[in-house]
Amino acid sequence: MNDNQPRDFIRQIIDEDIASGKHGGRVVTRFPPEPNGYLHVGHAKSICLNFGVAAEYAGRTFLRFDDTNPGKESEEYVRAIKDDVRWLGFDWEDRLSHASDYFDQLYDAAETLIVKDKAYVDSLTAEQIRAYRGTLTEAGKDSPYRNRSLEENLDLFRRMRAGEFADGEHVLRAKIDMASPNINLRDPTLYRIRHVPHQHTGDKWCIYPMYDFAHGLSDAFEGITHSLCTLEFEDHRPLYDWFLDQLDPPHRPRQYEFSRLNLAFALTSKRKLNLLVSEGIVSGWDDPRLATLAGMRRRGYPPAAIRDFCRRIGVTKKENMIEMALLENCIRENLDVAAERRMVVVHPLKVTLTNFDAGKTEMLAAQNHPNRPELGSRQIPFSREIFIERDDFMEDAPKKYFRLKPGGEVRLRFAYIIQCKEVVRNANGEVIELLCTLDPDTRSGSASSERKVKGTIHWVSATHAVPAEVRLYDRLFTVADPGSVAEVMPVLNPSSLAVAQAKLEPSLGTVVAGTPWQFERLGYFCADSVDHSGNKPVFNRIVTLRDGWAKIEKQALQ
Ligand code: ATP
Ligand code: MG
Repeated sequence: MNDNQPRDFIRQIIDEDIASGKHGGRVVTRFPPEPNGYLHVGHAKSICLNFGVAAEYAGRTFLRFDDTNPGKESEEYVRAIKDDVRWLGFDWEDRLSHASDYFDQLYDAAETLIVKDKAYVDSLTAEQIRAYRGTLTEAGKDSPYRNRSLEENLDLFRRMRAGEFADGEHVLRAKIDMASPNINLRDPTLYRIRHVPHQHTGDKWCIYPMYDFAHGLSDAFEGITHSLCTLEFEDHRPLYDWFLDQLDPPHRPRQYEFSRLNLAFALTSKRKLNLLVSEGIVSGWDDPRLATLAGMRRRGYPPAAIRDFCRRIGVTKKENMIEMALLENCIRENLDVAAERRMVVVHPLKVTLTNFDAGKTEMLAAQNHPNRPELGSRQIPFSREIFIERDDFMEDAPKKYFRLKPGGEVRLRFAYIIQCKEVVRNANGEVIELLCTLDPDTRSGSASSERKVKGTIHWVSATHAVPAEVRLYDRLFTVADPGSVAEVMPVLNPSSLAVAQAKLEPSLGTVVAGTPWQFERLGYFCADSVDHSGNKPVFNRIVTLRDGWAKIEKQALQ
């Protein structure tokens, strides 16, 4: 057991089950994604819960593909889901399974239900079935086919399997109660005909089981003890239990529901994410602006920070909306410790140091991390021409502006104090260069560098800088709950991506994708795993240094 882990209601139930000897003290869970899209941050919550509790109780977890819906599912998604689960830090070892692994057993279970007069072949159309189902306030009514004989049902079902009928001609339904107040119990469909090849079973089958039927029984076949799912399945639990009651498998799992993760300003619906991808609104499932695991990985979010986030939001039955600020704070806390510091100028303004020799390069020592001396330091070149951030110069600066202004002084980090002597403009009157002088007695770290000024800014040597594309991400949506709007186009943030031509300190010219860096005073960044190369460096902003959400979310979530 992990003492850092809050004792949420699921863990309390497991504690009790272990104490009472239920399931022989075993804990077996599963994460059951449907391979019809990439995983998102909501799935991370479910993965952390399922793999997390099993690990805490020395149990086991299956990664089970819920692949009962061929046509929408694909091998690409299967691969991506496996990559993402592994990346998040979890290992299913040899427990990779598919609902389709059990198609034979499920078929046998369906025949058993027919034999027990608990299932029948219905030949109503899909539309008629819907009409017969009734509503929340009105009971449904029995299909005229509900009382077919056992022999006729078996014969039709076998012929469904043999491929004698077209899609939609018949379905197999459970025989429960068309008047049940729970619509899920009004003779739910168990099997439907789909003449579609399946990405895992090829064309072995032309009938496919429905999720509810396949899911609980797969849990039973695998010896799952605690089947953890989101609240929308609460009303399906009576059906889950009904199948187990009728078929009485040797092992009986139990289903528990918890609330979904809803993250402000993020989409957590595969269907809607799919739309953004297929319409080309984002660059792919791994677009760094998406709250997909692939997107967050490419953006540079450390998996440990996402696990930390899932731990902090906890597991309850209450529906809620989690603020993006919380996720980003987990990212920041992780990166503050993990990321080495580097100097990068994202919006460069040239500065010429008129009293520093042209052609001379001085190497200056720069600490890699302010609180981790074991990470050592590096040498950075300093020369007559440097770049500073455009924002770090202001012509008509207010009194409290402690960066560079005409006549003013500022310290260049790890280097010298400089003074702005002259502003150079182009024909349009825009500032294109500053002429400054450097005080040679103020070199950082030297005995004579006593003199203090209020501001310190970052810089890179113009002669040595490596040009790079830097991608600055902002929220993709202008509304807190983009999942609830009918049309996403009108709520897209037009400035969710800004591209800057930046100047890197030379040590960043050779880095590999994924490693996070703090660009001093700017935020955390990493080289992009798709577009970055040594010839054309491309960096993503993972997160800014300070929280920018507090205000936005306060307004939006009121
Ligand atoms: P989507 O709405 O994105 O399609 P889904 O529930 O259909 O999600 P599945 O692939 O069926 O996606 O989900 C696999 C598991 O992840 C399920 O057990 C589901 O309950 C869980 N899950 C999905 N979305 C969330 C979420 N937002 N928060 C927590 N768990 C989730
Ligand atoms: Mg689902």
